[in-house]
Amino acid sequence: MSSIIKSEEVFAKVDPSQKILLLPQCLRPSETCPGKFTKQGLQCPDDCHETCIIRQLREVALEQGYRAVCIAAGGAMALRSIRTHNPKGILAVACEKELEMGLEGVEKMSQGGEEAPVVVVIPLLTDGCVETEVDVNRVVRAINLRPSDPAAQT
Ligand code: SF4
Repeated sequence: MSSIIKSEEVFAKVDPSQKILLLPQCLRPSETCPGKFTKQGLQCPDDCHETCIIRQLREVALEQGYRAVCIAAGGAMALRSIRTHNPKGILAVACEKELEMGLEGVEKMSQGGEEAPVVVVIPLLTDGCVETEVDVNRVVRAINLRPSDPAAQT
């Protein structure tokens, strides 16, 4: 059985500075996105003015004090980001396939005796790997979860 905790209530108690946000690159506008991939994920240039959910969500997370936001091109890249930032809380937007792979990877990483991070997952509304969609309000709400938030008590 998985030892990964998937609970908004537990996630809400983690300080934002110990959290990371993982977003899939497939949320970007594929034809016009000027971002470049590196080993750390998709890097967005400061002068990008595309209408883009990724930018919106990244800004919300960084304003809230999140440790990092990774725009990953797959589970391996997301796991690299987790290893680099060593978070206590992970908010991940993902399709089912990437999610399974990612959770397995997190579980293996935490088998060395270290405490596993708490993971909250928000599934994509559409898949297909290109220009996918997510419930943005749901992600923003999850980014902003705090211990006193009634939504975290359910
Ligand atoms: S903000 Fe969106 S469109 Fe702009 S570089 Fe980043 S992912 Fe691409």
